[in-house]
Amino acid sequence: MPFTLHGIGVSGGYAIGRAQLFSHDRLEAPHYVLRREDLPAEIARYDEAVSAVRAELTLLQDQLPEHAPAELAAFLDVHRLILEDSMIAEAPKRLIEAERCNAEWALAQQTQALIDQFEAMEDPYLRERKHDVRQVSERIMKALMGHPGHAPLKTVGEEASVLVAHDLSPSDMVLFKRQNYAAFITDLGGATSHTAILARSLNIPAVMALHNARALIREGDVLVVDGEQGVVIVEPDQAILEEYRIRQNQWRLEQQKLKRLKKSPAATLDGTPIELMANIDLPQDVQEALEQNAAGIGLFRSEFLYMNRSDLPGEDEQFEAYRAVVEAMKGRPVVIRTLDLGADKRLPWLRHESINPALGLRAIRLCLSEPPIFLTQVRALLRAACHGDVRILLPMLANLKELNQALELIAQAKAELDRAGRPYRRDVPIGGMIEVPAAALAVEWFARRLDFLSIGTNDLIQYTLAIDRTDDSVAHLYDPLHPAVLRLIHHTLRVAARLGKPVSICGEMAGDAQLTRLLLAFGLRSFSMHPAHLLKVKQRILHSDLRELGAHARRLLREGEAERIHAYVQRLNA
Ligand code: PEP
Ligand code: MG
Repeated sequence: MPFTLHGIGVSGGYAIGRAQLFSHDRLEAPHYVLRREDLPAEIARYDEAVSAVRAELTLLQDQLPEHAPAELAAFLDVHRLILEDSMIAEAPKRLIEAERCNAEWALAQQTQALIDQFEAMEDPYLRERKHDVRQVSERIMKALMGHPGHAPLKTVGEEASVLVAHDLSPSDMVLFKRQNYAAFITDLGGATSHTAILARSLNIPAVMALHNARALIREGDVLVVDGEQGVVIVEPDQAILEEYRIRQNQWRLEQQKLKRLKKSPAATLDGTPIELMANIDLPQDVQEALEQNAAGIGLFRSEFLYMNRSDLPGEDEQFEAYRAVVEAMKGRPVVIRTLDLGADKRLPWLRHESINPALGLRAIRLCLSEPPIFLTQVRALLRAACHGDVRILLPMLANLKELNQALELIAQAKAELDRAGRPYRRDVPIGGMIEVPAAALAVEWFARRLDFLSIGTNDLIQYTLAIDRTDDSVAHLYDPLHPAVLRLIHHTLRVAARLGKPVSICGEMAGDAQLTRLLLAFGLRSFSMHPAHLLKVKQRILHSDLRELGAHARRLLREGEAERIHAYVQRLNA
């Protein structure tokens, strides 16, 4: 019997595929006692599972794209080391013999014992390695239970597997990049969480906040994922499958049609040029930005270079990563945001445990509390700027003291490069993200000290409305069209224009074609978004006339009720 689950569509399109369950931290193992004569076969079965995982890791390593960040390879290396350690490769076999138990049970016991040992360690870095142990163990468990980790499952039509998870972290998502899932769905998560943002960058349909998907869906179930409506249909009948195959084809045709706009300059009907830039998470994403003919990179979320690895990227490694992006963009601007870790982007070495991480030591606050980490990154950025148009963007500024401290550290980084005799660019523009209401309200003073501004609407909405962007239980309250949010955006754009400072929007609002005309009416002329949204927004721009839109800003700002504002914006798009 088919059944339907409703969630939030965070990445559009349609997919049909079989469920591949992703388990994070649950090792569910069956337990049974074996006859003594069956023990050698059970031990051989365990050896086979370890060999299968060895082959799987080798395959993953071989399939890493040429420009894959070093952390992905390092991550796989760590897993290989764990796999080969006798505590994993041998100890469970001794348990099988001693307890006459099945291999799954032996592995689960041994894994728990190891995790307990790691948890008792003083060093926070070592303590966190328990996650790696668990992940390797899960791979072996899957092999034992007949579900090889990343081998494609039986296909339905041309689709492969749909990843089904209770929750995924941004670090998980980085690892899923370049793997061939048809779609992914999760129980938890908000539409502008970093996991969702990364999901969009995979260009596959994704639905989050489904609540019970992981519990209700079984491995291998056929799923229809409707990323447009945020719906997942489990075990659909033929009629539903047919209907979705038609929708899938129509969607693909529309995408094809949009591609014709690639070369057209982005300008409104009255001839005003609009800058359309791309957001990227990893250096290799730059290819997609180029494919969509982005005017530049408006936001490079550099923190993803720091994920899925046990150490920090050094100055030279970062320099190479930034240089690769800058050179690929061939003179077009590249706005690189300094490290924005904390909140939902947690790493093992982040020692500080915050009770309320979104309001804690995040982004620039974290960098100012760890100057060596910030200085290393700034030196790499200043050096990369010799190779193209690099601009440095500071995240989550809330008060001028932070800005002044950051500017002092940038000056210090320059002095360090001077002393080391390393070439760098002295006049790299420094911009600030306006994503905390305090900064938006006091934008005048920030703008005077900065070369450019970028409005981060994802956080601006989160902090203005006091809604955790990762929490699906309050997702319905997350409203980009709340009058308070609109006023803050409008105010920021107006002040920047008055002071002659370039300003763009790089939050998810910039990539929502339903909001393009509203933002044009507010005076926005530079948008930065995931490359997948660029042509759709361009299409809207090509059919918009600023001479008509201008009058709407003031009228819109007079509206206070959500329904009326939403209706107004809909009329703007008619
Ligand atoms: C934002 O907050 O809008 C933004 C672009 O930054 P991030 O989504 O990475 O927090
Ligand atoms: Mg932000």
